[in-house]
Amino acid sequence: MARYRDAVCRLCRRERNKLYLKGDRCYTDKCSLTRKGYPPGEHGQSRQKFSEYGQQLREKQKARRIYGILERQFRRYFREADRRKGVTGEILLQMLESRIDNVVYRMGFARSRAEARQMVNHGHFRVNGRRVDIPSYLTRPGDEIALREKSRNLSVFKELRESAGAGSVVDWIEVDLEKMQGRVIRMPQREEIDVPLEEHLIVELYSR
Ligand code: SF4
Repeated sequence: MARYRDAVCRLCRRERNKLYLKGDRCYTDKCSLTRKGYPPGEHGQSRQKFSEYGQQLREKQKARRIYGILERQFRRYFREADRRKGVTGEILLQMLESRIDNVVYRMGFARSRAEARQMVNHGHFRVNGRRVDIPSYLTRPGDEIALREKSRNLSVFKELRESAGAGSVVDWIEVDLEKMQGRVIRMPQREEIDVPLEEHLIVELYSR
């Protein structure tokens, strides 16, 4: 599947927001947004004022970039969220959060969603005992996610165990770092999803 392969820090600068796409570097002074807090390109430093549509568009782009999703798939998530009963924006975020690559990241097994995506792609994880190598796989409450036995001794996972994980884990997922496994307890509430998004703008954009 096609993927964005250019410099990811440009995306943060474009959105004027830290999207935490690079793992450890994002938490240091080397962060490009800290050093150059304006959008990339020739007119990056000139003042920009967004129309209502522009704001909605930027919010949608930001969401896509945080979760590493292309337009077509993102639109599919929106259609599904819109179809379900409840608050569309919140359901959309819950769907994005329940992707296996995001869950692996939230479990603290990867430093970024991109790293988690690669781990999943390489078939390191099992869901309820079955190998899953599709990053867009949607987990559900009760699902058990475990590192496969063969991957346990890979240096990246050994380091993770020794350093007590790559990041903070969330309340809606139970993690056993020693066994390198976890369980989705429930879907996250909106206030538990710490992404800088105003999802109502995305709903407004697609409802035009
Ligand atoms: Fe974004 Fe991380 Fe790059 Fe900073 S270092 S601009 S947060 S991807």
